Amino acid sequence: MSTRSGIGYDSHRLAAGRRLVLGGVELESELGLDGHSDADALSHALIDALLGAAGLGDIGEHFPDSDERYRDADSLGLLERAIELVRERGFTLVNVDATIVMERPKLGPARALIRERLAGVLGLALADVNVKASTGEGIGFVGRGEGVAVLAIATLER
Ligand code: MG
Repeated sequence: MSTRSGIGYDSHRLAAGRRLVLGGVELESELGLDGHSDADALSHALIDALLGAAGLGDIGEHFPDSDERYRDADSLGLLERAIELVRERGFTLVNVDATIVMERPKLGPARALIRERLAGVLGLALADVNVKASTGEGIGFVGRGEGVAVLAIATLER
């Protein structure tokens, strides 16, 4: 049995007229995340963590943002494709953990919904899907409310 870990990182700019979707859950917010797809930075960071742990490269190789197929794409669907790729290589997902770095809105009750949504897509128990929140403390692009960053890690066994 071998155990492997992968990290993921993503950030997106906050913009008016966009939805704020994290882990497939839409949060109530005046500003949303800008990007080619739905700009779900949590799903994107998790995809990179999964691909990284499996040695399968990164999200840009598998789902390029130059590809019109991924315009406004539901990133939870891409996460589902990523976990399929990982399973095809003989890996089992053990757990994922993520930190959302965001000034506002507060994650609040959405955190439980996000965990449930991710657990469903990833085929994990709730206890194996952890989502944390942090802020930029007024510093940098997150602190100024210009964007959202997400860090993620995934552990696989084969
Ligand atoms: Mg992204």
